Amino acid sequence: MDIWVATSNTGKLKEFNSLLGPLGYTVHGQKELSYFSSPEESGETFIANARIKANALKKVKPGTWVIADDSGLEVEGLNNLPGVHSARYAGPHARDAENTAKLLKMVGLRTANNRSAQFRCALVAYSPEGHEIVCEGLLKGEIARGMKGSDGFGYDNVFIPEGESKTLAELGLLFKNKHSHRAVALKQLILHLSELRI
Ligand code: IMP
Repeated sequence: MDIWVATSNTGKLKEFNSLLGPLGYTVHGQKELSYFSSPEESGETFIANARIKANALKKVKPGTWVIADDSGLEVEGLNNLPGVHSARYAGPHARDAENTAKLLKMVGLRTANNRSAQFRCALVAYSPEGHEIVCEGLLKGEIARGMKGSDGFGYDNVFIPEGESKTLAELGLLFKNKHSHRAVALKQLILHLSELRI
């Protein structure tokens, strides 16, 4: 079965593929649709933004399964920032390295002794008939004192999951597929799909 994912983030798509592919789903990313452009993520919550992305792709891919996740990093001592602004923390077109550098700087300035943080993922799926399924996942941990590791994307190189001493970028895809916020949400969706015998 084909599943369309509303993302142009190759790191995310790789994670969706590595969990859904072995189960027999064929994962397509929005980059396959040259005419499609991402909608503005104007929501104030992860679920609202996931809905905006899934709805936009559903409009051009009606009659198929469409999923979208909106995810980000919530740092306790920064009032849960960068949160829904994670992708644009250092500016509208900021690259991962710029966002990560700003995060380390802000944590150092504002909350050096409390580095607790969590990744949050909201996943919205639409069936071919338009039924909505919403799933959520969390990964708790803390912000490292510097960047470490080269696997993954985004803030992976500065996030140490609870109970670990290495960053996600050092632990790699196998760890993320078991424990990440996205994997937790996606596994709930997979359970729904198997209950629906899809
Ligand atoms: P989105 O594409 O609007 O959901 O933005 C997600 C942003 O949050 C990404 O660009 C990353 O900066 C960050 N993010 C979300 N999930 C992860 C993850 O698994 N690892 C590292 N950073 C992540």
